[in-house]
Amino acid sequence: MSLGEFDLIGKYFTREVRRATLGIGDDCALLAPLAGMQIAVSSDMLVEGRHFLSTVAPERLGHKALAVNLSDLAACGAQPLGFTLALALPRADEVFLEGFARGLFALAEAQGIELVGGDTTQGPLNICITAMGEVPPGQALLRSGARAGDDLYVSGTVGDARLALEVFRGQLALDAAAFESVRAAMEQPQPRVALGLALRGIATSAIDVSDGLLGDLGHVLRRSGVGAIVDVDAVPRSVVLAVQSLAWQRECTLAGGDDYELIFTAAPASADAVQAAARLAGVAATRIGRIEAGAALRLVDAAGRPVPHTFGSFDHFRS
Ligand code: ADP
Ligand code: MG
Repeated sequence: MSLGEFDLIGKYFTREVRRATLGIGDDCALLAPLAGMQIAVSSDMLVEGRHFLSTVAPERLGHKALAVNLSDLAACGAQPLGFTLALALPRADEVFLEGFARGLFALAEAQGIELVGGDTTQGPLNICITAMGEVPPGQALLRSGARAGDDLYVSGTVGDARLALEVFRGQLALDAAAFESVRAAMEQPQPRVALGLALRGIATSAIDVSDGLLGDLGHVLRRSGVGAIVDVDAVPRSVVLAVQSLAWQRECTLAGGDDYELIFTAAPASADAVQAAARLAGVAATRIGRIEAGAALRLVDAAGRPVPHTFGSFDHFRS
């Protein structure tokens, strides 16, 4: 006999909560934020064929579904608290559910966030998580705080997820080890929660890279009313990407998407504090440019020569 809706929720998703007052099982969950904290809320939906390929292992999909939401909390400098999971499943496939739950809860436990509720329905595979975190009033990192003269940074490396996608699309070929490493970047991104927390009070603005570095930087520039100059050769990339053609390196690093690194700005006087925050978080922070007055986004290479800005950004209704 196949698993019913409530058996499925009970078997795969119900865990005892520690931080929340009430978890799965009633009409609402009850969260218990620390006194005076603001609640940061973010939702992200993953649709099969749109956000992930059917070839992805269920465990990696469980990880990624939560990781992309944690990445939004990270970009706000919020401490993860609880999340809900709205799931449409074609059928109650226990092999899928077991793997999906394993990947989901491994990341949840590592990041101290707990599943407090959700919804389950039959339908085309679709995963929507809403994550909630807490942040002291006035300390959330916003897109609107970049100021002319600030340094511009990116965490980790960018471009591998797009490189993996191009291999799946048949546009590029990699040897097995190289493919496995970029595929892991695409399927198991590491949300930069610790970095976001460490950057509170240091970064003047932040955003996570989901649609491509230049496109997401553009959101910061518009919301802050500033421009920027970016050294495209300074954008950090993996050793696998660094041996591809320069054209592919630039396309993947600047317009790749699905990176889930943080782009952030900080005053030059905070340069040491930025590096200390990055060390604390165990991830590199690389300076890739500077915020300027005006509204232009200018690209230059390592020699300071202008690079034409022909790079796109992911848009669900235009691609
Ligand atoms: P409601 O009748 O309020 O819609 P449901 O019967 O859909 O509630 O769900 C019963 C309980 O199980 C609720 O506490 C709900 O939050 C939880 N729940 C349902 N689906 C999921 C899921 N995929 N993950 C976690 N909790 C879930
Ligand atoms: Mg109800």
